[in-house]
This record gives sequence, structure tokens and C-alpha cells, in this order.
Amino acid sequence: MANLSTLGRRIRFYRTRNGMTLDQLSAACDTATSQLSLIENGKREPRLSLLGVIAEALGVSVSDLLREEAPTGRDALEIELERAQEGPSYRELGLPALRPSKSMSDETLRTLVGLHRELDRRARQAIATPEQARRANTDLRLQMREIDNYLPEIEALADEAVATVGHTAGALTHRTVAEMAEHVGLSIVHTDDLPHSARAVVDMEHGRIYIPPASIPGGHGLRSLALQAVAQTVLEHREPVDYADFLRQRLEASYYAAACLMPRSSAVPFLEEAKRDRAIAIDDFRDAYGVTHEAAALRFTNLATQRLGIRLHYVRVAGDGTVAGAYENDGLPPPLDATGSTEGEVVCRFWSARRAFARKTRTTEHYQYTDTPAGTFFEATQTGIGSDEYSITVGVPYAESKWFRGRQTPVHETSKCPDVSCCRRPADGLAERWTGRSWASPRVRPYLFAPLPHGTYPGIDDRELHEFLQSHADDSPIPSNGAV
Ligand SMILES: [Zn+2]
Repeated sequence: MANLSTLGRRIRFYRTRNGMTLDQLSAACDTATSQLSLIENGKREPRLSLLGVIAEALGVSVSDLLREEAPTGRDALEIELERAQEGPSYRELGLPALRPSKSMSDETLRTLVGLHRELDRRARQAIATPEQARRANTDLRLQMREIDNYLPEIEALADEAVATVGHTAGALTHRTVAEMAEHVGLSIVHTDDLPHSARAVVDMEHGRIYIPPASIPGGHGLRSLALQAVAQTVLEHREPVDYADFLRQRLEASYYAAACLMPRSSAVPFLEEAKRDRAIAIDDFRDAYGVTHEAAALRFTNLATQRLGIRLHYVRVAGDGTVAGAYENDGLPPPLDATGSTEGEVVCRFWSARRAFARKTRTTEHYQYTDTPAGTFFEATQTGIGSDEYSITVGVPYAESKWFRGRQTPVHETSKCPDVSCCRRPADGLAERWTGRSWASPRVRPYLFAPLPHGTYPGIDDRELHEFLQSHADDSPIPSNGAV
């Protein structure tokens, strides 16, 4: 049923078109004029029997009256203005509602409606200051810690998706990923003209996932990208309402992709066997599923506590020692700033995450025990080079080291951090030597970038995105089961 305002306007439209006054119509319907006036103004809902009588008197059908479109362009503008003024973002301003009078020109009305549209767009836009972004990020990390980084609903959806295409073990092939996309009505299209700001684009109207050409290095990256795009459909994600919502959706999409690439149904038995053999190793897990070390380590954090009973910490550290990502439920907190945020903070130089950079040979993981004020931990670190140097560390409390390969390592380090005497305060002689005789310019770190408020998705340029979608909209239909 159309809303009352639209219904009233449609009745008035047909009445005036028939050249009838309010009195004439109420007489024809055997109802009070005041009653009819309330109905036309959208203030009262007519009984269905009365609606039938009105329709007959006007020579139209009841469904003509109930249609959802405004009867004229002017009515559409007036309805939009009414609705905007009833909305939360306008009421928040505490301004009076303006009733569009007959004397108000269409131009004035259009301008007002245009302002309301912009007000609404800005309110819904995922604008976040760096401060809000950091807080949202911290909140999400703490929420995930509460549930041991495990999302059973998404695990079940991924298990189901993988079972549907008959995949049972090992690495998911590009072809299988394409099949999984097809099951939710999406075709994967490789293109080399993606908007600069986007890694992948989904055209929901035509059911297409656009990702970079298959020839670029990093096949795992493309499978994960395609699955993250599939996740938008499977998890029924809508446009994010704010930055926190955007972060949660992004986390859920990558979780879904990881749970498809390393499904619970086979990954848990694989890890349980490794545990029985006292030889859990992230590099084995990585190689069994053909994913990156980082992907395997992160996936391990999902399954370790809830499915293997092991608490742990994970940290990705850049070559300069700053945290690029962290998770912990074993009591070894990553370095935190005053707001509880960890990205960009420097980890102790004695942690495995940084000691690993000092090694000459880096083909295998670096293992070490680290004594900290929070207890002793066993840590395994793999270093890598992307656009920059980084290390991926998974660590567990000493008591859990018995399940892991590398536990015989003789390497032992002591960290007193966050005590500044550990590794932050220079030795006395050096401080005296250089204080007041030096200057340095800080490097701006990438984590300081604000999520760019260009459009609906932080960091995505809407104009570029919409031009890209438009330029591909008329492409010929995509042949099915194309390789990813
Ligand atoms: Zn330290």
C-alpha cells in the first residue's frame, strides 16, 4: 500500500482532473467533506470500502489510487520534501518543517529537495576522521578477541559453498573459485582498466566481478579477491552506513574468503593431526592450501582457540618495527597507544617479530622463546618482502609450545617492554652525547592515512568507479565458467 500522503495526492489529482470540488466528491461518496479533506492531506487512512466508493466516483480503479508513484512531478517533490523533513538527519538540526505552499515555485522546491538529498548523502557517507577510524579499528579488534577471532556462521557458509562444488582437500583452484561465484549468479571478469582506487569491483546489476588480469603475480591474491567479492552477495552486505560498518564488512568478507580457501571441514583435521604429531607449523599449513604465509597465520588465529584449544598472539610488523596488524588472546598485548590502538606502534626489538629481521638466512621460520613481564612465550616468525620488508609472527604461551615445530630452538630473548629501559631509552652515554646536538625528521607512516571520504566506500573514488561500471555495462554477456 502506498503511503497516505501519496494516496491523498492521487485522490486530489483525479478529483481536480474531473473538475470536482471537495464538496461534490464528498456528496458523491456520501461522506463528510472534513473526512475527505483529512484523507487528501494524508492525515487519515480511508477504509477499503470508502476507497472503493471514491474510486467509482472518480471513474478510476482502486489500484489506480493505490499506486506508489506521485501523481505529478510537483507532488513527487513535495512528498520528497515531507519525507526528508521527517528524517533523522533533518530533525537532528532542530529546525521547523516547511510546508510547501501553492505559491512556492517548483524551482524553490527543487533547490530545497536538492539540499536535503545532499544532507542525507553526507550523513550516510562513510566519513571518518583518522581518530574515529583508529577507534573503530580498536573496537573491532577487541570484539573479535572476545569471541576468539572465530565466526561460526561464516565458517558454516564457507563449508557449504566449498561442499557445493565438491571440493574436499588442498588448494582451491581458480576454476573452482569461478564455479563458486557462478553458484551465486556471478561471473568473474578479468580486466586491466580497474579504477586506480579499487582492487576489485562488483556490478550487482549484471552479476559480474571485475578483478585484475589473471597473469599478474600472486594467484592466491586473485582467488581471495574473487571470494571476497562473492562474500558481498553471500553475506548480503549492503552499502556500509558508517566506517565501523565498513570495517566489519571488510573483515567478514576476508574471513569468508579465508574460510573458503582453508575450509574448517578440512583445515581442522589437518591441524589436529599436526597437533597430535606435535608439529604444528604455519608454513606446512600454508603449503597445504597454497596460500600466503600471512593468510595461513591469520586463518590459524580463527581456528586455534575454539577448535584446538590453543590461545595465541599474531602480529604483522613492518621493517621499521611498527605494527601493521595484531591479534592476541594469550595475554601478550601488542604495543598500544593511549587510545588502545596498536597500528603504527613499535614492537619491542627483542620480540621474535623484530629479531627475525636480523637473520641472514630467511628461508625458514625464525623460532625463539621470549621472556616478557606477561610470561614466557614461544614465537615463530616468517619474514617477507612485498613493497616493503615485513614479518609475520604467531606466538603461544610457553605451556603450549609443546604442540609446535621449532620448540627445540636455543634462542631465548628477554623483553622488559613496556618498561622504557628495555629498548627505547638510549644508553646514558649516548643520550648525553647527542641530546641538543641533533635533529631528525620523522617518516610519515602509511597507517596515518585517513580513510579518504570520496564516496560510499572509504578510499574508493565514486566518480572513477561509476565511470568504470558504465563503460563496461554494455559488454557482451560473459561466457560461463571462465577461469579466474
Ligand atoms: Zn623492548
